[in-house]
Amino acid sequence: MPEIHGTTQLLGIIGHPVEHSLSPVMQNAALMHLGIDAVFLPFPVEPERLPTALAGMAAIGVQGFNATIPHKQAVIPLLKTITQVAQQIGAVNTVWWADGGWHGTNTDAAGFIAPLRELARDWSDVTPVVLGNGGAARAVVAGCVELGCPQVVVAGRNEEKLAAFEQSWTASEIQQRLKVQTWEQLDNWLSRTQLLINTTPVGMAPNSDRSPIDAAQLAQLPGGAIAYDLIYTPRPTQFLIQAQATGASIIDGTEMLVQQGAAALERWIGQPAPVAVMRSALLQALE
Ligand code: NAP
Repeated sequence: MPEIHGTTQLLGIIGHPVEHSLSPVMQNAALMHLGIDAVFLPFPVEPERLPTALAGMAAIGVQGFNATIPHKQAVIPLLKTITQVAQQIGAVNTVWWADGGWHGTNTDAAGFIAPLRELARDWSDVTPVVLGNGGAARAVVAGCVELGCPQVVVAGRNEEKLAAFEQSWTASEIQQRLKVQTWEQLDNWLSRTQLLINTTPVGMAPNSDRSPIDAAQLAQLPGGAIAYDLIYTPRPTQFLIQAQATGASIIDGTEMLVQQGAAALERWIGQPAPVAVMRSALLQALE
C-alpha cells in the first residue's frame, strides 16, 4: 500500500461501473516503485454526474485520470483541448490538468501497437483484418495506420453500424485507408492477411468457449500470420488457441492494457513508466 501524507497527489479512473478496473493495481505499483508521492483511486461516476465530477476533481487538485466506459466520448466536451489521436478515434481515455483546464488524449492506439512494434516487422505490405467495429476497433484502426499499414479491413455483423463507422472517419485521412466489409465477406480476406485482430467481446470470460470465427476460418490464415485478441480474460482465448493450432503467432490483450496505462502514467508524471512493474502487477491480479 502507498503511504498517504498531507502532500500526496491524486490520480484515478472514472467509470460506471469501475469496480472491475485493473488500473489501480498497475498504477499504484508503478507509483510506489518510482517513489512518487501519489495514489491512484477508482472513482465511480454516474453518467449524469460527469460534469460535476470533473469540476470536483479540479477543485480538489486531482492531477489526472483515466476515463473508461461510459465516459470516453462524453468527457470530450468538458475538456479544453484534445490531441489529434483522440480526435481521430473520437474518444479520450487519459486526462490531465494544465493551464487551468482539463486536457485529453487516447493511449489505447499506442497500447495496441506496442507489442507489434516489438516484433520489428515491416508493416508496409500488411493489410490487417479487424473483427468488430465498436469503440476498441477505432483505436485499433488508428494504431494500424500509425504502424504504417496501407489499408485496414474492418468486418462487422451490422451493416448500419458498419456504414456509420466508415462515415465517422470523414474528417480524417484514415478514411482513405479503411475498407469496411460485412461478416459474410470476411472469408475473402483471411487467406491474405498477416494480422487478424479480434475487437469483439466474443470469447471473454465467462463465455470462454466461444470464438468470433471458427477454426476452419482461422485455418485460412497464411504462414507467419499473427492473431491478436484484445480480450485479456481468459488468456489465451479460444480464438487465440485455435489460431495458434494453425501455426499463427498470438498476442493477447494484457500487453495493450499495460502499455495504454504506461503511456497514461508518462503523461501525468513526465518520466518513463516502469512497464515491467506494471505488467507484473497486472498479471498477478489476473491470476
Ligand atoms: P463495443 O464498443 O461494445 O464493441 C464490440 C464490437 O463487437 C461491436 O462491433 C459488436 O457488434 C461486435 N460484436 C459483439 N458480439 C459479436 C458477435 N457475436 N459477432 C460479431 N461481432 C460481435 O466494445 P469495445 O469497447 O470495443 O470492447 C471490445 C472488446 O475489447 C472487449 O472484450 C474489451 O474488454 C476489449 N478491450 C480490451 C482492451 C485492452 O486494453 N486489452 C481495451 C479496450 C477493449 P454490434 O455493434 O453489432 O453488437
